[in-house]
Amino acid sequence: MLSQWLIANCKQISGFKNMVINDLFKEESADGVVLKSVVQRHRKDRPPIEFYYEFSGVHADEVDSSADPFAAACLIKSMRANEPLEIGPSISTRLHVMLPRIRDIYHSWWPDLFKRIDIHTTPRLEPAPTPRNTMGTTFSGGVDSFYSLLKHHRDGSAIGRPLTHIVFMRGVETPIERAKGVEGSEEWVRAVAENLGVRPVFGATNVRTHIMTNWEKYDHGSALASIALCLSPILGFMCIPSAFSYRHLVPHGSSPLTDEMFSTDRMYIFHDGSEVTRAEKVESIVSWNKDLALRYLRVCLGNFGGAYNCGRCRKCVRTAIPLHVMGVAQGSDIFQYKGTDHWAGFLAKDHLELLRENYDFARRRGRSPEIVEMLDHAIRQRRFEQAVDELRSIAFVGEGDLNR
Ligand SMILES: [Zn+2]
Repeated sequence: MLSQWLIANCKQISGFKNMVINDLFKEESADGVVLKSVVQRHRKDRPPIEFYYEFSGVHADEVDSSADPFAAACLIKSMRANEPLEIGPSISTRLHVMLPRIRDIYHSWWPDLFKRIDIHTTPRLEPAPTPRNTMGTTFSGGVDSFYSLLKHHRDGSAIGRPLTHIVFMRGVETPIERAKGVEGSEEWVRAVAENLGVRPVFGATNVRTHIMTNWEKYDHGSALASIALCLSPILGFMCIPSAFSYRHLVPHGSSPLTDEMFSTDRMYIFHDGSEVTRAEKVESIVSWNKDLALRYLRVCLGNFGGAYNCGRCRKCVRTAIPLHVMGVAQGSDIFQYKGTDHWAGFLAKDHLELLRENYDFARRRGRSPEIVEMLDHAIRQRRFEQAVDELRSIAFVGEGDLNR
């Protein structure tokens, strides 16, 4: 039996001149709970967006009833659309203070793409609750989330007790309408949770479908934060696993600077794992729990959310390198394609900093001169390409100056 109720219904203030969040709904059925809101747009040719977060196997009181998740989800979207953001229901006082700061950071990083829109929010004036002493991480099974899971599961020093929950959402790795074979991935996540004795939380959302500008580059930190905030009634702390180390802090859709600003009075959000490089994360995961990692690691860009690693894509190659350097990939079934003949071609297109991290890792290990040489060649090639791009941009600016 389905029961639906209105959580918040605020009077329209601006007559749809802004991106407006007014109504919040929660539905509970035998399968779980759905939190949703219809977000109105300020132009008639932009239809309203119905955002939803659906969680299975949870009760209504385990899912948030505030506009906090939608505030996190809509900020970047409203900046990209150049529509002022207006949120009728009150939001966390902390989020009310921080949303303009996140806006200013995004606008400073990408002034042409993300406009410095007005933000209209009301702080929730209530005594700040004591945060729950429970911690979770968003978990896809990739290197970054596997690292955060095993680190905080082994060592409970961050909050005084080990990590308790992992959260896997359909519609995050791949937009929900394009996801394939996700059931298999959920089985893997369930197996990892059972092995470690943590509670898995499964769900689905269309947030990626609607807010996407460039998921990896601009969107995923705020989207993961919005998912995290849905679970603030059961989790006091939540990890957003980092993509880059602290030594390579760049404008990015998920960064230690911005992710943690989405924390609220109820939940602290960690940007977690930047103390090590990606290659070092692979090394730690394997040393902490080799059997689990080599059985359930999911890193592939080409699996549409399914439970396998193709072995051929850029991210599979990036992960295969430290595993080969450690000598553990060769005997495992972690990758469908086990050949290495395509590596050089993919390395030539990979992120320069991640190439350097793998190069440093392989060189320190000193056992794979052929991989070191391949990475060295790829790094030189990428640096040459960057230098050419730089020269082109200088030449272009010069031309423009002459025409003034
Ligand atoms: Zn792949």
